[in-house]
Amino acid sequence: MILQFPTQKIPIQEIPVDKKLKLFIKREDLVHPQISGNKYWKLFFNINNYLAQNPVKPYIITFGGAFSNHIAAVSAVGNLAGIPALGIIRGEELKDKWRENPTLVFARKNGMNLQFVTREEYRYKEKLTEFLQKEFQNALIIPEGGTNEVAVEGVKMMLNNETKDFDYLCTAVGTGGTISGISKFCEENQKVIGFKAVMDNSLEETIGKLTPRKNFNLIDSSIGGYGKIKDENIRFINDFKMNYGIPLEPIYTGKMMQKVFEMIEEGYFPENSKILCFHTGGLQGIEGANLLLEKQNRNLIR
Ligand SMILES: *Cc1c(COP(=O)(O)O)cnc(C)c1O
Repeated sequence: MILQFPTQKIPIQEIPVDKKLKLFIKREDLVHPQISGNKYWKLFFNINNYLAQNPVKPYIITFGGAFSNHIAAVSAVGNLAGIPALGIIRGEELKDKWRENPTLVFARKNGMNLQFVTREEYRYKEKLTEFLQKEFQNALIIPEGGTNEVAVEGVKMMLNNETKDFDYLCTAVGTGGTISGISKFCEENQKVIGFKAVMDNSLEETIGKLTPRKNFNLIDSSIGGYGKIKDENIRFINDFKMNYGIPLEPIYTGKMMQKVFEMIEEGYFPENSKILCFHTGGLQGIEGANLLLEKQNRNLIR
């Protein structure tokens, strides 16, 4: 097995709040130094099963944007396992500029080949997947964000005896795989809240196909849209790190935690609630975000 069950315990840290409830964060970002958070678990069975069945000439192909945590994670898996990997990257303009993007530099250093496609071509990635699967019959083709049914099984590993105690389980939502796994495998009495980092009206339907349960609620926390960064959120992220020693990133976890704080303030959670937020990782994205912020003469994430 190239991806192993972690030998270290994943800590659950308390975030003190001055309300009559308890807030905790599970540091799934610490699961692996290069393969971050939920992406580790979404890849776990996809990669391990594939390599068990295709030991000869394995090849991985996947999709993502220029700052994608999933691209970073898959490239690291490729490097770790010594498997060639291809990343289909959205944005043809990056062809000559990828060296300015820390995520893509990381992917290249891991040996990932990058193929840049136009936004138009990227939109038809299902068609592209079909074509690639014919061309490379043995290849493992992982969809954008790593979300599929096998990924959902891996997310189960984020839950354990310790997470059973909580009334609310919170996670950021991108393509919906992570929340689907939490919804599918959590306890009967637990409520799941998904903080949408992207305004995508088809998410409910996507998640509905991956979990049989209706125990989840989706809340918009896209704050200005997917990948958009507000100064207020940067301030929140910097304060959060200073106060609790936990780094967040500006695409998913920073937006989720800011929204959770707001909801606590507004009395969304009943008294004595125990709330658990999953830190899904993605800290590799901070460097790229800071480069953009620097160009715009704005405050940086520290
Ligand atoms: C990809 C990602 C998510 C979203 O997970 P989905 O399974 O795509 O919904 C959340 N947080 C971080 C840090 C991520 O990298």
